[in-house]
Amino acid sequence: MLVVMQPNASAADIDKVCDEIVRQGFKPLPMPGAVRTAIGLLGDDAQVDWSYIEGLPGVANVLIVQKPYRQASREWKNENTIVEIAPGVRVGGSDVVVFAGPCSVESEAQILASAHAVRNAGAHALRGGAFKPRSSPYAFQGLGLEGLKLLALARNETGLAIVTEAMDERGADLVAEYADCIQIGARNMQNYSLLRHVGKLGKPVLLKRGMAATINDLLLSAEYVLSEGNPNVILCERGVRTFDSATRNLFDLTAIPVVQKLSHLPIMADPSHGTGLRDKVTPMARAAVAAGADGILVEVHPTPDKALSDGAQSLYPEQFTELVRQLRLIAGAIDRQLAPTPVR
Ligand code: PEP
Ligand code: MN
Repeated sequence: MLVVMQPNASAADIDKVCDEIVRQGFKPLPMPGAVRTAIGLLGDDAQVDWSYIEGLPGVANVLIVQKPYRQASREWKNENTIVEIAPGVRVGGSDVVVFAGPCSVESEAQILASAHAVRNAGAHALRGGAFKPRSSPYAFQGLGLEGLKLLALARNETGLAIVTEAMDERGADLVAEYADCIQIGARNMQNYSLLRHVGKLGKPVLLKRGMAATINDLLLSAEYVLSEGNPNVILCERGVRTFDSATRNLFDLTAIPVVQKLSHLPIMADPSHGTGLRDKVTPMARAAVAAGADGILVEVHPTPDKALSDGAQSLYPEQFTELVRQLRLIAGAIDRQLAPTPVR
């Protein structure tokens, strides 16, 4: 439920509504806007006496949010949310951002070479997993804490923001210490205790769509993070499983405008996991920006044939450089622009 105040409502009117919400056993969330304040009511609001609240001084109207994911919905908040993951790296505004790097952090030389290559090409953040969710327990699982330290070193050298995955609560605490944005991977999109935990940490969260998740499921998962008081959620389409084995996943480009209609949260696209095939990454990255994605997440490796994970879908640095050049043109064609490269 959302209590919309009149534009001339006083601070005392707002306080009175908040007090009434507390009196009824709920939590108020005042959201000052450019023209007027709205006050969200958090909790299971089916039992609220909203007609009383509607009669309080300064109240314009009470909106019953129909969507199950409430705070993630456009009914709750109409203007686009911009998530600033590091100074100047804003996701969800008119700038388009590029997060790039290897699937996994493998060594100091590999991550530094990746960081320099993607930065020189125009990326804004370095991605790379230190904790890897692998289908096989015998596959490379990531360097763990050592990987996080290498990412921090790469940030120092290049000025790039750092995005890396957390697979559990303990890992999330470590990631929050070293990185700028916590990635929650497809396999953990419905790990509700992890979502609540990163909601409490307050760090920006990149939430990837589960491989069999509907968009409703994705937005409900985002709601878990928002409901803990963390508004900094970036959604990411990364393909869903289907019957066709021609590509690793079915990259659902339609998810971009669908999410944008339903939610104010930024939405990025990951054509690397979305397709699983290097030669399909560039066309689908171009298409994602054309479709309105707020940014792309793309795997780039200095030597993909030697990569310890996802080499087959990783771009060579030269391919990535050419992709960023093209994305700049595509963003311009839809009245957007690539974000400026962060200062070192
Ligand atoms: C990744 O980004 O390397 C990754 C494991 O992605 P996803 O969770 O989308 O499979
Ligand atoms: Mn990967």
